[in-house]
Amino acid sequence: MRTLIKNGTVVTAVDRYEGDVLIEDEQVALIGTAIDVAADKVIDAAGKYVLPGGIDVHTHLDMPFGGSTSADDFQTGTIAAAFGGTTSVVDFAIQYKGQTLHHAWETWMKKAEGKAAIDYGFHMIMTDLNDQTEAEMDALVRQGVTSFKLFMAYRGVFMLDDGSIFKALLRTGQNGGTICMHAENGDVIDVLVQRALAAGHTAPKYHALTRPPRAEAEATHRAIALAEIADVPIYIVHLSAAEALEMVTEARDRGLHAYAETCPQYLFLSYDNYEEPGFDGAKYVMSPPLRARQTQEQLWRGLAFNDLQCVSTDHCPFCMKEQKELGKDDFSKIPNGAPGIETRMSLVYDGGVRAGRISLNRFVELTSTSPAKIFGLFPRKGTIAPGSDADIVVFDPDRTMTLSAKTLHMNVDYNPYEGRQVTGAADTVLSRGRVIIENGAFTGRPGSGNFLKRATRS
Ligand SMILES: [Zn+2]
Repeated sequence: MRTLIKNGTVVTAVDRYEGDVLIEDEQVALIGTAIDVAADKVIDAAGKYVLPGGIDVHTHLDMPFGGSTSADDFQTGTIAAAFGGTTSVVDFAIQYKGQTLHHAWETWMKKAEGKAAIDYGFHMIMTDLNDQTEAEMDALVRQGVTSFKLFMAYRGVFMLDDGSIFKALLRTGQNGGTICMHAENGDVIDVLVQRALAAGHTAPKYHALTRPPRAEAEATHRAIALAEIADVPIYIVHLSAAEALEMVTEARDRGLHAYAETCPQYLFLSYDNYEEPGFDGAKYVMSPPLRARQTQEQLWRGLAFNDLQCVSTDHCPFCMKEQKELGKDDFSKIPNGAPGIETRMSLVYDGGVRAGRISLNRFVELTSTSPAKIFGLFPRKGTIAPGSDADIVVFDPDRTMTLSAKTLHMNVDYNPYEGRQVTGAADTVLSRGRVIIENGAFTGRPGSGNFLKRATRS
């Protein structure tokens, strides 16, 4: 099977040129000008960008949380991702207390099997660390699960103490894995939540008011310090607060391997959204919460100057009806999370490249190349080069669309960006050489996504 993408502008993290891309089976075979070979399919990309497929390294598909399950499973979620120009996700398997890591991995592999329409990998969330678990980390790394997520919040559910975190960090020094950290001071937050509820403050906005930026900054600082003592890299997930970004910037200025991602919601939404009438603030209940509006520019600056390396989504949708509603009388019972897997590329292109905050190359780097490098997928993913997987997005920089739950494909009854106009959208999307989005329709097949066995840090 040969596919030829003609007349487009090929853009990677470092290049931009007019060129044709020839795909043979699942991989890029040849890049050149005016390639003249017979192909089974020819895609005309005139006036469009030819980009490496987006990589979203933070999604929660089919994830149980607080008595509910995230509304997108591996089928609806990966199809929605594809519509938005994302061709790989790294989701999170969860080890619950008393379970082995292997059991968690198998459980999540089953969730994805037969459903995922794009390639997928897993980080392992560890909630119970003992000698056996530590040894199991090595086995998982060999099987391609090369990153582990730990929580400094949600005591009794996900949270680990500093000693356990430190042990896990030390272990990655030996096995080449990477620790990803949910950095919020959980104990402080728990006290603030109890006091707010005791005072009768039950509305959604108290979710944000009980998770102050300094609680995120403190945990970010502590996480980086523990990694520094262990002499290993660390990756901070969903960084939202300017105060936390300062901690990462300071560490990087000292030469530490501290990495962090932020998410579109922190770049485009703000605390003000919690003040929307009625229970609408619940749409934005996520952790960490949305921050003050002025934080957005600070995060964009972090992205532009490489203090932040990735934009992922933390896609974890819950419907307003029957799910978010669980917290109608108590903000602490609102399932945490929001949809975003489909809108990431267009939002970051529109608000980043078109608004002049980041370059086109940086856009590719933040949404594809850098996540591929940090999480062991490069150069198979994250670029367009001979031999790399033909995960390719033909991206129309001039197409304008209005974001709405009615037209997007995520399986959730609202959209946090409802009514927002964005310019720049994925037209044709290929996953390992197969066209999976074309003319506004999904043409792929659930189950055709492969498990991504990821490499260790090099
Ligand atoms: Zn998350």
